[in-house]
Amino acid sequence: MMPENNYDVIVVGAGPGGSSAAMAAAKKGRKVLLLEKHPIVGYPLCCAEGISKSGLENIVPLNPRWVASRVERVLLVGPGGAEARIEHPAAGYVLDRKIFDRDLAARAAREGAVVKTGTPAVALLNGDGGPVRGVKVQEEGKPNEYFAPVIIASDGIESRIGFWAGLDTTLYLSGFDSAAQYLLGGLDVDEECLQFYFGRELCPGGYAWVFPKGGGTANVGLAFTPALNAKVKAMELLDKFVQRCFPSASVIETIVGGVPAYVGKKLLRVKNVLLVGDAARLVDSISGAGIANALLSGKIAGETAAEYLPSKHSEKFLDRYRQNWDRLKGREMRFYLYARQIYVRMRDADFDSVIGFVRSIFERKSVAAIEPIGLLKRVLKENPKLLLLARHIRW
Ligand SMILES: Cc1cc2nc3c(=O)[nH]c(=O)nc-3n(C[C@H](O)[C@H](O)[C@H](O)COP(=O)(O)OP(=O)(O)OC[C@H]3O[C@@H](n4cnc5c(N)ncnc54)[C@H](O)[C@@H]3O)c2cc1C
Repeated sequence: MMPENNYDVIVVGAGPGGSSAAMAAAKKGRKVLLLEKHPIVGYPLCCAEGISKSGLENIVPLNPRWVASRVERVLLVGPGGAEARIEHPAAGYVLDRKIFDRDLAARAAREGAVVKTGTPAVALLNGDGGPVRGVKVQEEGKPNEYFAPVIIASDGIESRIGFWAGLDTTLYLSGFDSAAQYLLGGLDVDEECLQFYFGRELCPGGYAWVFPKGGGTANVGLAFTPALNAKVKAMELLDKFVQRCFPSASVIETIVGGVPAYVGKKLLRVKNVLLVGDAARLVDSISGAGIANALLSGKIAGETAAEYLPSKHSEKFLDRYRQNWDRLKGREMRFYLYARQIYVRMRDADFDSVIGFVRSIFERKSVAAIEPIGLLKRVLKENPKLLLLARHIRW
């Protein structure tokens, strides 16, 4: 075993989760290796790039270069034409993730992590039922091996690391939303407003979005739940939406992808492997957002890995990652998961009625912050019919 191939922490995948983990572990003085399979960090990727101010800035200080547009308001549009406009100055950002992801990896490098692009992890070096010893990679066309007492899996929705370490990471039809998105050009939209469109026919179980990116461009996409209608495809639904709302726009970029469903705490750790972000399915069950969760889970996992001393601690020490994540986010993630069970059963009339209620709360107001759980509870209280949709949910 070559000493230069030994690290304290190996992180697989340089998305927001991986770079955040590598940054956190390197900051604590650990020798960190960050592996990315693509030759360019941040390309290709599949994301609408929206993030709240707090979700981003609680983890990393803002660099204005990451921002494609600033979010000052939000528009909700129902299938029957109900609309609610929420004025929310400095709510968040639409990022340019091609710059953001690269910059985060560069920050990890600045903290001392070794970043290797074009270097996919192709297997784990499993130690006969004991801890995982390291990672086998393909580097410059040749196989190579790296060793560390902790591995962080930040390899996204397609994650193989958890599976190789012994977890059941199968993505069932009921376990993800299917998404498609265009970057459209030649648009005349309010560049500070995120738009959301709802309706069972438009996108069953999901929603469509218009996230402006400046210069007359916007990420225009939708995600839907294939388990509710296996006959349609995300791209067909998106084409109908674009035809209706932006018939003369130009398509600058096309992407398709999947949003994994949150599955609780069960994919956060196996042996000495910590899973973060999409690899652990840490996605908000209503919005499908995962960047902020990837940043936060990466930070906690990176710090836990840095504090782990195999000569002193048992492997159980690494459970601190799962405990700290659950303390900070568990209640919120569980609430969204329950709320999703109602959301996927809502009919078009329910969407219009909820949006009408939201308008009555926010019209002619400017809000400094929205507390989503409190708002959802108010919506349910005012629309008790919705609770009937949840009658087979165990709270
Ligand atoms: C259409 C769409 C729109 C979305 N819009 C939003 C949004 O607006 N806001 C939001 O918050 N979230 C959004 N999401 C979700 C968000 O993109 C993810 O939650 C987020 O990217 C997760 O970050 P991550 O670091 O966990 O994984 P990723 O960003 O997927 O990064 C994983 C990295 O691992 C690398 N990798 C994979 N396998 C290997 C390997 N074997 N070896 C080395 N490297 C490997 C990949 O190349 C990739 O760079 C959207 C998702 C989709 C599909």
